[in-house]
Amino acid sequence: MKLIDCHAHLEEVPNLDQELKSAKEKGVAAIIAVGSDLYSNISVQQISEHYPNYVYPALGLHPWDLDRIDETIQFIEKNIERCTALGEVGLDFKYQTPKELQVKAFAHMLELANRYDKPVIIHSRWAWREAFEMVKKAGAKRAVFHWYSGPLDVLREIIAQGFYVSATPAAEFSEAHQLVIKEVPLERLLLETDSPVKYRGIASTPSHVLKTLKAVAQLKKVDESRLAEITTKNVANIFEIKI
Ligand SMILES: [Zn+2]
Repeated sequence: MKLIDCHAHLEEVPNLDQELKSAKEKGVAAIIAVGSDLYSNISVQQISEHYPNYVYPALGLHPWDLDRIDETIQFIEKNIERCTALGEVGLDFKYQTPKELQVKAFAHMLELANRYDKPVIIHSRWAWREAFEMVKKAGAKRAVFHWYSGPLDVLREIIAQGFYVSATPAAEFSEAHQLVIKEVPLERLLLETDSPVKYRGIASTPSHVLKTLKAVAQLKKVDESRLAEITTKNVANIFEIKI
């Protein structure tokens, strides 16, 4: 059984070498490492070089980290040919960063994604409709709405538009996330951990994508090995990586 963790903040994971070894042993065949700001993008790039064909870099500009926008965008553009995707990017309207600044940064990242034909990994908390509309308007072809737990009417439009949704270990207990997972067709579903995010007090690592697998398999009433096969194929398709 092969699994892919399609969203992890590896630069924040303690004992990374050990954690990646353990993930590999448990069947995690690849990890998409996402960046959030200038510092984390540099780290993500270095980590992916250290674990070639295992860690795939996504460079991003997170709505929580908009203090050095110009430098971050410059770095991303300079290294864009080497990255697998753009992310984590998006909007978060419960966060203190001014909305206009978030919209401006996100629009810029969507423009880069289009220009360089890269998939985007999207954070859309409390701005689900706005984020979706911006992605659609920008003409993005490949998009993942990460840990989507928003309204189901927006979700249906996300699916109709041909986009993907990724599930986290919150599938074990979050009712909003569970409702979403039940609604998403298997061929649009990806698995992730958002490591090292804590779920019910426990910090996650990439091998916890197995927890996501188990919880999602139960919700979808599908065999774990079949779910692993389909979601791994989905990741390989959208991110154009060979597993
Ligand atoms: Zn994240």
